[in-house]
Amino acid sequence: MSKTPVWRVAVPGPFAGPLDYLPLPHEAPPPGARLEVPLGGRRVVGVLLDTGALSELPASRLKPVRAVLDREPSLTPELLALARWAADYYHHPLGEVIAALLPVALRAVGDSAAGQRQRWRITDAGRGGAEALKRAPRQAHALRALRAADAAGLDADGFDAELGGDWPTPVRALVARGFATRELEDVVPLAPTSARTVAPPLNAAQQDAATRITQALGGYAAFLLDGVTGSGKTEVYLAAVEATLARGQQALVLVPEIGLTPQVVARFAARCAVPVVALHSGLADGERLAAWRAARAGHARVVLGTRSALWTPLPALGLIIVDEEHDASYKQQEGFRYSARDLALVRAQRAGLPVVLGSATPALESLVNVEAGRYTRLVLPERAGKARHPRLELVDLRGRKLQEGLSPHFIARLDAQLASGGQALIFLNRRGYAPTLTCHACGFIAGCLRCDARLVAHKRHGELRCHHCGSQQRLPERCPACQADELLLAGRGTERLEEWLLERYAAHGVARIDRDTTRRKGALDDLLADAHSGRARLLVGTQMLAKGHDFPEVGLVGIVEADHGLFGVDFRAAERMAQLIVQVAGRAGRAERPGEVLIQTRHPEHALLRRLLTEGYAGFVAEALAERRAAGFPPYGHLALLRAEAPTGAAAEALLVAARSVLGEVAEPALEVLGPAPAPMERRAGRHRWQLLLRSDARGPLHAALARLMPRLRSLPEARRARWNLDVDPQDLG
Ligand code: ADP
Ligand code: ZN
Repeated sequence: MSKTPVWRVAVPGPFAGPLDYLPLPHEAPPPGARLEVPLGGRRVVGVLLDTGALSELPASRLKPVRAVLDREPSLTPELLALARWAADYYHHPLGEVIAALLPVALRAVGDSAAGQRQRWRITDAGRGGAEALKRAPRQAHALRALRAADAAGLDADGFDAELGGDWPTPVRALVARGFATRELEDVVPLAPTSARTVAPPLNAAQQDAATRITQALGGYAAFLLDGVTGSGKTEVYLAAVEATLARGQQALVLVPEIGLTPQVVARFAARCAVPVVALHSGLADGERLAAWRAARAGHARVVLGTRSALWTPLPALGLIIVDEEHDASYKQQEGFRYSARDLALVRAQRAGLPVVLGSATPALESLVNVEAGRYTRLVLPERAGKARHPRLELVDLRGRKLQEGLSPHFIARLDAQLASGGQALIFLNRRGYAPTLTCHACGFIAGCLRCDARLVAHKRHGELRCHHCGSQQRLPERCPACQADELLLAGRGTERLEEWLLERYAAHGVARIDRDTTRRKGALDDLLADAHSGRARLLVGTQMLAKGHDFPEVGLVGIVEADHGLFGVDFRAAERMAQLIVQVAGRAGRAERPGEVLIQTRHPEHALLRRLLTEGYAGFVAEALAERRAAGFPPYGHLALLRAEAPTGAAAEALLVAARSVLGEVAEPALEVLGPAPAPMERRAGRHRWQLLLRSDARGPLHAALARLMPRLRSLPEARRARWNLDVDPQDLG
């Protein structure tokens, strides 16, 4: 039986592999081009993998491709190969990986001219064409406008201004007559290049780090730039980027989700004096596509972006930087659960270029990679310029009378700081007014009906909100259970702390920075501007405050509650807390004002805290690594978490029991299977959640077992009664 020539296409959906379609005659699209294909009665965008394949099926059983959507491939061969690698490693369907990494504007069938602008110009025929248009006054009008615009041409806005709203018909007619041309041009959303700034003279450690990276350009190398906060890591990045640009190459700089402020973009644009684009979640789909196109065309020489910018096509890529590499936002937490930090290393290795991971608080994984010789460590031990290391102090809360959670000692230091004209930063990792609403008469506690969680009171909005599923209701005035007028708001979040600070320190100006106060576009920039100008001398907020902002006048940092992280349910809780303490502490004493950091705790004797205080982050790391080694947890062991959720706990559990028995057949002796067990928050958004944890000392056995489990899992009958997902290298076990 003869075989049918087909095109192999990756389509979004839970298919283990690509699907076959009948080719379009007279078309020869390159692999990586997007195609419109039929799928289950719908039309979807797929990506062409291979045009030379043969199918066992007769042509009558196959559907034809409907259209080729790209002349140039949307996915370069490099990114297509990286996507395949990632699909393999994360055991995720290739079609879904590809759909996830394309800009949103390219994922749907339709007009992908977003990010491009139409421009019309007069032709030579048009210049002599006025005679022919005597009976077409509106075309004649449009032609006059085009003649006046000359070589610059007109875009839609230009015609709107010249002819008013209904210009498209006459303009189309001009193009049909050959009197005008229509072209699509990229809208290049480049950061404004202000006057070029010059680099400060680098100190010896910065110079050494920059030289080592620069000398490595042109081949694969992995560096961990381990520099204390304020040590001038960004200056090292800038020097390395400049060297990359001097070779005619492009640089990709990844930053954490809330680290990509306009100031950061402006700093790169001003220093490098080349087109710089930013790619982040705040962009509209069209803007994002335009930035992506500018990168792919090579116009954008530096791309600054959050997690998904890893997937930007860069024809002349020469260097990748991952700033704050320990940041959890590099891991995608839904759908295709990949780590952009880890894949940055893979991309660099495959493309043969250096990658720099920078942090003041490197992930334990990265430090172990240094020990193993996989990364070269570059150390910046001192703060740049005149700044000093801040002084850290534990404040024992036991037996103290607190005001809004603050100890008398902290309040005294705060008063002194403000009196001396400095700023203070108060960190509390809980937003809202109060985490618990309870009734003093009957003991009622307001809980979410859909989650195993308490509702958080948000006073200014008069609401109770669930921080897990988003459900909300009015803040009741009487107890919903016993009707007593004795409701209490217990505990505190940033909103409550702000209220207290405003009562006491109104004249000094208070800025609260958390997800609630920064939801509106531009709100964060406004608050940061207040902080920089000194209009707000008291800054209170969640971890959003900890990230990279440089406030030169902050002389005091207070950490209201350090104990959360010490006893968190997750194995990374302590690591996250230590990183946060060091990062927040790093906001103090950035310039000439000496910094002071007070950490409030009820467990001042805790080993992790003590070592963090006496020996710094390195001391904490030694203690934490010993714990991880004993448990066989990352970085000394490898994990994958299979999560299941269903309307009933039994259905979720049943799927994982079935998965466990498949794993039993796979019989991988080096693999440890833990569970199934309920997730730490068993019920969330009305669904019951269970999980199965896979662990092994080496990656090999874990991945071998997953490769055999996944195809079986998709066809289990239990898989139809529960949703599931696989998380390879999970960031948390929740
Ligand atoms: P990091 O990213 O390591 O926290 P930054 O690169 O933001 O540090 O630098 C911290 C501050 O020190 C910035 O204000 C920066 O302009 C300044 N700085 C960096 N390097 C130098 C240097 N070599 N000389 C003087 N000031 C410097
Ligand atoms: Zn909820």
